[in-house]
Amino acid sequence: MTEDIHNLVIAGSGVAGLSAAVYAARADLDPLVLEGDEPGGQLTLTTDVENYLGFPDGVGGMDLIQRGKEQATQFSAQFQHGRIEDAVLDGQPLELSLSTGDKLYTRSLIVATGASARWVGAENEAELMGHGLSTCATCDGAFHRGDAVLVIGGGDSAMEEALFLAKFADSVTIVHRRDELRASEIMVNRAREHENVKFAWNSELVEIDGSQEEGVTGAKVVSHPDSYPRKKYEAGEDVEVEAVDVGGVFYAIGHEPNTDFLQDTAVVLDQNGYVQTAPAGDAWATTETAAHGVFAAGDVMDSDYQQAVTAAGMGSMAALDAEEWLESADAAVASGSERISTEAGD
Ligand code: NAP
Repeated sequence: MTEDIHNLVIAGSGVAGLSAAVYAARADLDPLVLEGDEPGGQLTLTTDVENYLGFPDGVGGMDLIQRGKEQATQFSAQFQHGRIEDAVLDGQPLELSLSTGDKLYTRSLIVATGASARWVGAENEAELMGHGLSTCATCDGAFHRGDAVLVIGGGDSAMEEALFLAKFADSVTIVHRRDELRASEIMVNRAREHENVKFAWNSELVEIDGSQEEGVTGAKVVSHPDSYPRKKYEAGEDVEVEAVDVGGVFYAIGHEPNTDFLQDTAVVLDQNGYVQTAPAGDAWATTETAAHGVFAAGDVMDSDYQQAVTAAGMGSMAALDAEEWLESADAAVASGSERISTEAGD
């Protein structure tokens, strides 16, 4: 008998985690929500969300998250700072070691740790990240009034970042490695129609110039009509190399799931590191992972949809799945078929 055991810990306070928290708190599961290094998740880095049901005039990403936290708190969800660094998930109770040094024990866990921005791999990026190089236009765009800036990527995020930056920067160039965009038509049209937004097709960033004192002062971009010029450049093939004067570079090339702490656990990850949930069976879909009592929701398990509204939906599913799992575990204990400890260290 050493420590209390939580009923349910929810790792992550983005839209999936908060939605799970609202459902779980309303079901009296007393959830504890862990807020990691990026509390509120990716929505806090977004400007207006126009496609979240119920907000015909759009809603700010940060506003949506703050409302969600308020809603979860009203139903008595608890919040604690800490990122899970290590987890033992192959028995009961589940054991979580946090970045704060705390250790938590819980009967069930919802993994809603989301995904973090990918980096390009250009020369000097580690030194210049946060010094003119950024993965968040909403956070850093206002530092670039009057600048020329680059946005790397060809998806919706790149279009969104470019349109936001165009409010401050004199010119925004979207650097895309192919000649066809991945972004949705509505976002592409908005970017194409903006007078300050240009496109560099079949182009890739290979180097960023500057210093931590001066910020970004320039960049080297390579291009080739056959797309993906970087590989050709690195192989010493003939590509066009251009040195551009820019005051800022923004990465918008997608995200990596935050699943490092699950690497050597009973949870199964796919080849890209996303949590694999169980095949649906009789149900339409499930948030169950391969570890008993562990569920997953949102961008950490979904590399396809990655929408705020789908993450919220999956968060609610995970809470309902966890509730059902806890009830069956209680029933098993009551019938004597299985013993689940109620205190850690038993
Ligand atoms: P994404 O759709 O995966 O697009 C990533 C883009 O970056 C692709 O164009 C890709 O090129 C490029 N890329 C990837 N790795 C690269 C590298 N190493 N070097 C250069 N370019 C690279 O990611 P996303 O734009 O972040 O969007 C993720 C999801 O969120 C999508 O479902 C999107 O619809 C959604 N989202 C929606 C909104 C909105 O509706 N307002 C806003 C943002 C995001 P290729 O095309 O050649 O693969």
